[in-house]
Amino acid sequence: MEAASGYPLGRALSCALRPASSRCSGSLALGGGCRAVAEVRVLVINTGGTIGMVKEDKGLAPEANKLVKALKKMPMLHDDEYVKEKKNSDFCEFPDDTLVLPLSKQNKRIVYTIHELVPLLDSSNMTAHDWAKIAMELEKYYEQYDGFVILHGTDTMAYTASALSFMCENLGKTIVLTGSQVPIYELRNDGRANLLGALLFAGQFVIPEVCLYFYHKLYRGNRVTKVDAGSFNAFSSPNLPPLANAEVDITINWETVWRANTKKKFKVHTQMNGNVGLLRIFPGINAAAVKAFLQPPMEGIVLETYGTGNAPNNREDLLEELRKATEREVVILNCTQCLRGSVTSDYETGQTLTATGVISGGDMTPEAALAKLSYILSKSHISWEQKKKMLSENLRGEMTVVPTGAKICLADSKFIQVIAKSLNVSCKEELEAIRDALTPSLACAAAKTGDTDALKAIEEMGGNLSCQDYDGRTPLHIASSEGNVQIVDYLLKHGATVHAKDRFGATPLMYAVKFRHEEVIKLLRKSGAHLSSQELKNIGTELCSLAAKDDVYGLYVWYLTGANMEQTGYDGRTPLQIAEIRGHVALLDFFKKKYKEENEQS
Ligand code: ASP
Repeated sequence: MEAASGYPLGRALSCALRPASSRCSGSLALGGGCRAVAEVRVLVINTGGTIGMVKEDKGLAPEANKLVKALKKMPMLHDDEYVKEKKNSDFCEFPDDTLVLPLSKQNKRIVYTIHELVPLLDSSNMTAHDWAKIAMELEKYYEQYDGFVILHGTDTMAYTASALSFMCENLGKTIVLTGSQVPIYELRNDGRANLLGALLFAGQFVIPEVCLYFYHKLYRGNRVTKVDAGSFNAFSSPNLPPLANAEVDITINWETVWRANTKKKFKVHTQMNGNVGLLRIFPGINAAAVKAFLQPPMEGIVLETYGTGNAPNNREDLLEELRKATEREVVILNCTQCLRGSVTSDYETGQTLTATGVISGGDMTPEAALAKLSYILSKSHISWEQKKKMLSENLRGEMTVVPTGAKICLADSKFIQVIAKSLNVSCKEELEAIRDALTPSLACAAAKTGDTDALKAIEEMGGNLSCQDYDGRTPLHIASSEGNVQIVDYLLKHGATVHAKDRFGATPLMYAVKFRHEEVIKLLRKSGAHLSSQELKNIGTELCSLAAKDDVYGLYVWYLTGANMEQTGYDGRTPLQIAEIRGHVALLDFFKKKYKEENEQS
């Protein structure tokens, strides 16, 4: 089937492509909805922690059902006027517990909903069971929200962030953990600023990582550790600079952002292996205690060693216990006790330890190493050798792996050099600025012409293939509009995000539908692309109009996006009813086949 011409665009896109002056009062309307152009949805999962605690007789403890009410009274975290206006306007459903941030500098409205887990916990009480609860919540609501915030106690936040980074497989959206050192209900507190910052990042940027936001900084979740119990600046990411800084301006370090390089859909892995532990060596450590620690059911431990991964090599009793354990296939992952730095093979003491079968944990934090161990050991279908290999690989940006082989760098690009020369530019920062300014145009042009070599070169120069042009379009938007399956495939394999929205709120999937590129739609869907719940809800009139025109292919491409084909149009009829009334035989046949297929699948 090939695209028919003259297809009336989805209303979102037709609205988007009209001149700004004729647009519906800054709104991106889809089939009669009233979603503001830049309205984004964030789900906040409240697990507990100081941020929502109150002082009881026995000390600070979380209190249920209190946070939403309190936030509604905080103008920086809730704009009640906006909600009232929306409620009065025609079709909008805004459930009572909906919260909305004031309009952001980036001209976005962040609409957020809080789901409170039961019971709320001091994070000292959390276990892998609670991580699984959070992960399942993320999976359940993944398609309905643009981003996620997890409110969590600071004590074990680094453990949860590390664990979730592994449990969330093929992540394509932003997840931000945050909390505070002082409850949000107190006069002087860090909860308000932390929550606001986390919401702004989760709602406005596609940073497809499990992040942690605290005290003006966005960190990669599996790189942090809690370093201060008495300061608002409680976390540190010793071996990786922050992903973003929220100072006067928000600056994102896009080159550091981790991208999954996968075409698979998001899913969560909840079965972590609990037979893991942390063991910190110290001068004179007792070999019998080490032996006891390594006994079954223990399957893996993180050994916290000195400096660059050193342990005594004059303690045969200790080395013997470690050797015996690795021979029993207990995994021992070597991490440094130092806050900063990595395990290396610089010292004889370190090399003796490696000879016992211990694996280097590089520059992983003990929290990340423990989470990785627990994750990998829970994968029962892979061999012991494969597990050891995975532990040495960088799975989620948790460790620094020095790339082998020559790397083309910015200075190698003749093109950039010529421009730099004519602009009299010589320093690295300025070269990078030129690259960043040119990358979106170059990458979008390469996507348009199907030039994989150009995309490769841009990537090798350190350019980001999820970059957005002046209208917020990414190379994936362009390739999807063009229907170039090879380029779409290439971009997906190289970290392009399917969730990017251009300034009109349209995703690459929306463009693929608009230009009726069936294969691209299928590929994007396989990679987890979906229309937002709001868009899906409001396409009834569009579908009915296609049905009225007997446009079978037009309906078919919408069907491929996962749209609910039983939605009613403005007059309450479904596309099927319209096909029946008008006697569109081919269309009736399409619906019959669709129902048959669905019945067979269920
Ligand atoms: N004990 C608290 C917790 O981790 C500390 C905090 O949230 O800052 O839940």
